Amino acid sequence: MNKIGITTTVPIEILLAAGYQPVDLNNVFIADPDPERLINIAERVGFPLNCCSWIKGIYGACLENKIDTVLCVTTGDCSNTIMLMEVLKLKGIKTIPFAYPTQPDSRQMQDALETLAKKLNTTLDAAGRVREELAPHRRLALKLDGLTWKQGTASGLENHLWLVSASDFNQDPAKYRQELKELVEQCLKRQPYPPDWLRIAYIGVPSVYGQDLYKYLESNGARVVFNEIQRQFAMPHPGNSLAEQYSNYTYPYSIYDRLKDITAELGKRRVDGVIHYVQAFCHRGIGDIIFRDVLKLPILTLEGNDEFSLTHHLKTRVEAFLDMLQRSRRRNKTLKEV
Ligand code: SF4
Repeated sequence: MNKIGITTTVPIEILLAAGYQPVDLNNVFIADPDPERLINIAERVGFPLNCCSWIKGIYGACLENKIDTVLCVTTGDCSNTIMLMEVLKLKGIKTIPFAYPTQPDSRQMQDALETLAKKLNTTLDAAGRVREELAPHRRLALKLDGLTWKQGTASGLENHLWLVSASDFNQDPAKYRQELKELVEQCLKRQPYPPDWLRIAYIGVPSVYGQDLYKYLESNGARVVFNEIQRQFAMPHPGNSLAEQYSNYTYPYSIYDRLKDITAELGKRRVDGVIHYVQAFCHRGIGDIIFRDVLKLPILTLEGNDEFSLTHHLKTRVEAFLDMLQRSRRRNKTLKEV
């Protein structure tokens, strides 16, 4: 199978139907033992210092792994991808653009999917069959999500890792399914987390801190029970067709579409506080204004650039946030008892 790099979650059913092996370059970048090295590859060819680290990391991962074809999302992800695509072309890499419709409309989505299928010499019927094959994988990922927030037997980090990997199923859907099945079986036998631990929602793009944030929260009696975008990668609302599945996927669309999903999940998952991660130099960071206005829970906004673990400064801010949440929980309990 020929590898095809992807720059975000895309309709991989079409890529698989066309005989490609999708490789999420974000995951390759962040899982690298030395991600800074991949950023350096991009900076050496001239990517500016004030360009988002994910874009530079994707570029470095693509070149390092000798990926010769990349599907670039030009609408519904990141405006930087357009220039990334131009630089990849300059380096002799074949780029295929894919544009999500500007709004979640299944008819427009159907057209976008048909165009992509034609470009890759496959059909939506073939992609529909792949969709059915992948349904158990997605169901398992969502089962792990339930084990995280309902049963409390899967950690926020496990939830993050397995849901974020649903973009390319770790490049091997069969292996992904088998390993995730084993993890779910283990979780079913575990004791739940203590019920008094703080329940945190993580919203925004996945962070560059890797595992550090989740581990640090747990070492302070708090755990992530909602990974917003990672859960979207697992397609929680698959609908009845590929077009419906990718119209119900909230990430490419307006922040207000994302908010409908976020507010419903915050209530259901009994979240105490929200961590909104923003990437330095990313336009999505501006959305913090809207989240702070609309969400009725305390929010901690963390901005990351190219530091791949939590700095002392960030740890102090996280601790102060958790402390505030604990105090407000105690105050609310006392008020209820009066
Ligand atoms: S974090 Fe923002 S700027 Fe960076 S790749 Fe993602 S959408 Fe683009």
